[in-house]
Amino acid sequence: MMAKKISAMDIYKLLPKINCKKCGESSCMAFATKLQERKVTIDECPILKSPKFEKNRKKLEELLSPPVKEIWFGYEDKKVILGGEEVMYRYELTFFNPTAIGIDISDSLPEEEIKKRAKFVEDFVFERTGEKLKLDFIALRNASDDPERFVKALKIIQENTNMPVALCSLNVESIEKALDIVRSKPMIYGATEKNFSEMIKMLISKKRDKKEFALTLSSSNIKTLKGMVKASLEHGIEDLILDPHTTPENIMETLDKFVMIRRSAIERGDKLLGYPILGLPINTYFYVLKGNNPIKQFVEKLDKAAAIMEARTACAMLNRYADGIIIHGTEVWELMPILTLRQAIYTDPRKPQTVEPGLYPIGNPDENSPVIMTTNFSLTFYTVTGDFEKDGVVCWLLVMDTEGKAVDVAVAGGQYCGDNAKKLIEETKIEEKVNHRIIILPGLAAPVRGDIEEKTGWTCVVGTRDSSQVGEFLRKNWNKILEEWKAKQEL
Ligand code: SF4
Repeated sequence: MMAKKISAMDIYKLLPKINCKKCGESSCMAFATKLQERKVTIDECPILKSPKFEKNRKKLEELLSPPVKEIWFGYEDKKVILGGEEVMYRYELTFFNPTAIGIDISDSLPEEEIKKRAKFVEDFVFERTGEKLKLDFIALRNASDDPERFVKALKIIQENTNMPVALCSLNVESIEKALDIVRSKPMIYGATEKNFSEMIKMLISKKRDKKEFALTLSSSNIKTLKGMVKASLEHGIEDLILDPHTTPENIMETLDKFVMIRRSAIERGDKLLGYPILGLPINTYFYVLKGNNPIKQFVEKLDKAAAIMEARTACAMLNRYADGIIIHGTEVWELMPILTLRQAIYTDPRKPQTVEPGLYPIGNPDENSPVIMTTNFSLTFYTVTGDFEKDGVVCWLLVMDTEGKAVDVAVAGGQYCGDNAKKLIEETKIEEKVNHRIIILPGLAAPVRGDIEEKTGWTCVVGTRDSSQVGEFLRKNWNKILEEWKAKQEL
């Protein structure tokens, strides 16, 4: 059965239809459209809170619940949110919750190492295009299989960080003891075919609210996985995560299962598979370092080979619906591609990635400094300012509102043009900051040079195609360009 696509009209039918505007929208239909796009929530319509609309509200909640259930774990003020997705492809709407990235910590490590690694996970930050990219959770691994060591390691993590935790053990006793002291809502990894009954029995006997943990169900067989979901639901355990097994030696097989699960949930409305998927790139370490594999014959530095394979596996999983992953490597060269790819996949295609248009002084510019004009596409802006900073470029950077388009696209689309340049010059009052009237344009803006000169009256010089070459260009040419321009004014 194909899952039915919800239209704004389906939603509208359940709204009060009185157009009171209390939600901030001009009509109930406008609110319905925003609900469909998940730009607002049901709570924003106060009328729906009245008992008269209780039935409709419930129907709306059901109608709007995404085909992949949204699950969270961690602290109330530091949640790791998994799932909640509605589409197979990002351009169909958007992806909502970026894949959560967890780093493992083995309970066999000495206390100082556990502390150090936990702090590393908490403090790690990598800034790209103005966004701080971080790690999301700690996956505490019961490598010792000793419940006491597991609990001790959890205490160390909790005393030293405020990070959400995944309790990773197949030993039911270890999980039981850890649950007694865990301060946050944990992800439990997990219930397998082998320990399922024992694990469920323990979780029920704990008399813990079944919403106080998220349980990972693990099986390489999707039918079995569905059976485990069904049985968990029957016991009232609803916050579930699916682990269809990660096999690094045959990553295609793993990815096929990820796609199958997601397709079944989104396109066929299979509720038993409508849960977040967990990927385990960490398995590459076990495979490369411990397994009997052909890599060992060819590679000397096995740990590096494992890290490369892990990063590759993680990236493949980000592309194919992993809602959470657990990795082992902490080298920045391994984390950077994973975090960067995640950032790219989870930007909202409905919103242009922009920075505020205006005038940005770079370095400490004065009245003789060059004026350079770029666009407000955030990736362009941060690449340009990053290159300028690296190369010691000192200039006035004019950032034009091109609706978040890069230079070549904005030139073709007509946003990078004379009229917008004129407006920008007037609004920023750049004329008062410099004693010349020269703008350096990006190489890709050469086709609109004439238009900008005509509308602004400024002299335009076409610079380099790449911002990394601007420093060199200015060192070689700026003084000459300025002198020639001044000489012309004296004629
Ligand atoms: S507050 Fe509710 S009833 Fe009023 S316009 Fe918005 S959606 Fe319609």
